[in-house]
Amino acid sequence: MAKVRIYQLARELGMDSKELLEVLDEMGVAYKSHASTLDEETAETVRELVYEQREEARKRAEEERRKALPKRPPVVVIMGHVDHGKTTLLDYLRKSRVAEREAGGITQHIGAFEVETPQGTVVFIDTPGHEAFTTIRERGAKVADIAVIIVAADDGIMPQTKEAIAHAKAAGIPMIFAINKIDLPTADVDRVMQQLMQEGFVPEAYGGDAIVVPISAKTGQGVDDLLEMILLVAEMEDLRADPEAEPRGVILESRMDKKMGPLATLLVQQGTFRVGDYLLADDVWGKIRAMIDSAGRQVKEARPGKPVQVLGFREVPPAGTEVEWVPDEAAAKEIAAERKEERREQELKARQAARARNLADLLRQMQAAEQKEVNLILRADTQGSLEAIKGIIAKLQTDEVRINLLHADLGAPTEGDILLASTTENAVIFAFGVNPPGSVKKKAEQKGVILKTFRVIYDLTDELKKLVEMQLEPEYQERVLGHAEVRAVFKLPKGGRVAGCYVTDGKIVRSAEVRVLRGGEEVWRGRIESLKRFKEDVREVAAGYECGIKLAGFDGFEEGDVFEALEVVEVARA
Ligand code: GDP
Repeated sequence: MAKVRIYQLARELGMDSKELLEVLDEMGVAYKSHASTLDEETAETVRELVYEQREEARKRAEEERRKALPKRPPVVVIMGHVDHGKTTLLDYLRKSRVAEREAGGITQHIGAFEVETPQGTVVFIDTPGHEAFTTIRERGAKVADIAVIIVAADDGIMPQTKEAIAHAKAAGIPMIFAINKIDLPTADVDRVMQQLMQEGFVPEAYGGDAIVVPISAKTGQGVDDLLEMILLVAEMEDLRADPEAEPRGVILESRMDKKMGPLATLLVQQGTFRVGDYLLADDVWGKIRAMIDSAGRQVKEARPGKPVQVLGFREVPPAGTEVEWVPDEAAAKEIAAERKEERREQELKARQAARARNLADLLRQMQAAEQKEVNLILRADTQGSLEAIKGIIAKLQTDEVRINLLHADLGAPTEGDILLASTTENAVIFAFGVNPPGSVKKKAEQKGVILKTFRVIYDLTDELKKLVEMQLEPEYQERVLGHAEVRAVFKLPKGGRVAGCYVTDGKIVRSAEVRVLRGGEEVWRGRIESLKRFKEDVREVAAGYECGIKLAGFDGFEEGDVFEALEVVEVARA
């Protein structure tokens, strides 16, 4: 086995011999000096151990780096059944808790707001219901850290409560249950607790770990407890972000303002955005002209966890779009243009796919439709022939096919006729006794429109008949190919039975359908599994010959049975 000297291995692993010797000591490997040899197996174990130690060290460093990062406020989404109090709770929090606004500032709805508590800041997503939450999640962005599931104490868990729970679960974020409306005499907190247990959440009061806080969004009772619980959960989640990292964020809400142009609320996720920075929200670029927070204050910079309304996007970036920082205008414009181009291509492809789908659907619909239609544009030389043809058409109508006279007129077909035919399903143009000009013929070719001219009425009606037939479902008929009589039945060694037959008339074809007849009655119908002459597989056997037939899925034939071979043929309808 290949051997390796200690100093060679140390060089390979990018370490001093002395360091490696320490590792060997740790492992209890005996050696004389750094020139001693190790067998390949030991060397491999040493390598693995060194790699493992390095990986651990890297993780430790990373964790330490993370732990050294400043904390960021939790972002909370409130979800629950309609009328259970989401809006009331948000209003209460906004009114009572949002930092005193500065002179001139107006508390605004920007899609999120910050609540200051002695223990820290909490950011609430300010769009009641989970529309915002889900659209943002649909775009793949993770915004909320904690979900408050609000349940009215007088109503209990309802369908949308379950939905909200499912959303939070899908997002993988912790939940806090707020049992609301406890000020009502009809409130029954215990009942809600019971229901929560049925959903698999055991409240802390019952010895479980589900956090449940009874509140009244109306009076504010319990809201402090709720905030405390949120901060406690946030503490456990250990939410941190690097304010020095390259700035990144997510659009929470956006709209077009008549005076100010595109407005978008940005939730900063890492790094710090500053007024004057260039940014990109997918294919929309912008330069931050101003930032306004939820208390209506103009801010110069926004750190992780801060929701700010940004002025300066060139267009309105949709909610859920991730925002990146870019160094300068040139880069911002260039990347935005590239992405727009990409998007156009993707949309085109999607549209084409959709169109292909629609066409297929249409065809299927037509096939499924009870009545088929032939759309006819008729041109004739005289009023007399026109009327005659119309009369014949009326007779050709069947229950299944309708000849729809789109347009009937005197004179040669026009370009307008071609246009009409090209935009109508199953449309054809028949001209009797008139010749279309060359330009019209060419147009018909270009558009793939069928345009036919006739001199004899009989030819025209004949062609029309054919067209009607094409629209009809083909009729199927069974044709008897031949018969074979079962003369002997053989058992196969591997199981199953083979009929030793004699073909009495016609022929037996391998691919045919077979009816097994006993005393003239059909006892089975199906397919042939194998058809043999002596040991040879054959495609068909003619009358007067013997053959072995194994049926696919039926062994119950007897001596004297007759196998009838059938073929199914499509027949044109009269
Ligand atoms: P949402 O559909 O979840 O946003 O529910 P709302 O916040 O609009 O509340 C629905 C109704 O319940 C409103 O009439 C509120 O005034 C009322 N409501 C909400 N919270 C409370 C509460 O704590 N106590 C009482 N008594 N009524 C409440």
